[in-house]
Amino acid sequence: MHRSPTFFEIWVRHPDMMQTQKHTGSYYAATVNDVTDFAPLLGAKTADVCVIGAGFTGISTALHLAERGYNVHVVEANKVGWGASGRNGGQMISGIAGENNIAKHLGKDVEDVFGELRWAGHEIIRERVATYGIQCDLKFGYLDVAIKNRHLRDIEADYERLEKARFPHEFRILSKDETREMTGTDAYIGALLNMGNGHLHPLNLCIGEARAAQSLGVTIYEQSPVRDIEKGSKPKVVTQRGSVTADAVVIAGNAYHELEHKLRGIMFPVNSFIIATEPLPDETVAQINPRDLAICDPNFVLEYFRLSADKRLLFGARLNYFGDDPQVIMTRHRRKMSRLYPQLADIGIDYAWGGTIGVPLNRVPQLGRISPTVFYCQGYSGHGVNVTHLAGRIMADAVAGTVEQFDLFANVKPIVVPGAHWFSKPMVTLGMLYYQIKDRL
Ligand SMILES: Cc1cc2nc3c(=O)[nH]c(=O)nc-3n(C[C@H](O)[C@H](O)[C@H](O)COP(=O)(O)OP(=O)(O)OC[C@H]3O[C@@H](n4cnc5c(N)ncnc54)[C@H](O)[C@@H]3O)c2cc1C
Repeated sequence: MHRSPTFFEIWVRHPDMMQTQKHTGSYYAATVNDVTDFAPLLGAKTADVCVIGAGFTGISTALHLAERGYNVHVVEANKVGWGASGRNGGQMISGIAGENNIAKHLGKDVEDVFGELRWAGHEIIRERVATYGIQCDLKFGYLDVAIKNRHLRDIEADYERLEKARFPHEFRILSKDETREMTGTDAYIGALLNMGNGHLHPLNLCIGEARAAQSLGVTIYEQSPVRDIEKGSKPKVVTQRGSVTADAVVIAGNAYHELEHKLRGIMFPVNSFIIATEPLPDETVAQINPRDLAICDPNFVLEYFRLSADKRLLFGARLNYFGDDPQVIMTRHRRKMSRLYPQLADIGIDYAWGGTIGVPLNRVPQLGRISPTVFYCQGYSGHGVNVTHLAGRIMADAVAGTVEQFDLFANVKPIVVPGAHWFSKPMVTLGMLYYQIKDRL
């Protein structure tokens, strides 16, 4: 008999929690160029590679493989871009979360290990947008802003790294006055301007890439949650009404899948929420973001914002909240946004939505295998727009037998937290409180 979960079960972790966030309330869903309607998986199919999940990781992997001639099937529980890839801040940020830990593990300098890999995802996006004519409002320009003196030191270190790596785009440190001119607020004491980073409409990018993959022969199934993976030399991906047998499987469900408990126990689901205001008058745009930059603060419980193509302020922040009630998100975000921009205190807010980010404790993106033929790729800690695109290429290499870059990540053992699968929610709540306090120091 079906029974409703108790309050404790809901707070701790209701098994369906990850699948309950709606997509309909997002600005991106409302302004998407193309609504996909791929048929569900029915009957027994075969492929060279079966990818589970049609977010950036899954679609990017499929597209890289298709470009090399592989026959790929992608099985998606909901719709293309339904997860974090179609809901995020759209900020294209160079750098790989956890890269310092990887370099430390190897006993090397981070620059010697990663160099231009840190922005390789941008180049892949840039190239795909051009090659496949994807309309996703791609713009360049990004500000890492500093709130405290210690953030200024971090920015200086980042500047030196970019200089050492001969970063091929404009970058420079801004004074407090220049930062005020570019952000329209006194909240920041300096910033690093990076014209190689940028921003885009993530759902339009994801769907554009899915269409590109389709044009190269990739088969995509929507509304087809995978229930099981039968491992072996020919692994089989099983849904309620069909299956795909392949030479290799790539699990790309990130923070949304429940398939392998082992993979859930090494990564925490952290929610982040975004609002989109009504379109702003030209004079407000000129005040708060005249260069049309993506802006991100340095806190762990961070605020990130930018303008959309139609000049709304898309304002995102992490909240210690697991629901998806637009009214709650609007109220809390309005308060945060008005602290920076009092002139927006009464502005209309047209959209509010949230999504889940996969955060490994050591921040190192998790690329690995659960069997010789079943790969996984997850956990980018809020740097996913760039890194998923790099990861897709690395996964395609690994499937094809080249594992040099794959091993950079796969050889770093993830931190396993006992009980994390079941108790992730209270653990995240406590972790967020800890980091909120740390941010204030
Ligand atoms: C609100 C928010 C803001 C963010 N802002 C930024 C930002 O500004 N910049 C940045 O770089 N990163 C940002 N991120 C992070 C970034 O969006 C993610 O790292 C990235 O999109 C992860 O892509 P993915 O393909 O791995 O996962 P997802 O996009 O989550 O895709 C996983 C897919 O797998 C599917 N799936 C799950 N289980 C199954 C199953 N059993 N069977 C079939 N399919 C399944 C899901 O339905 C989903 O579509 C943000 C994330 C959020 C949530």
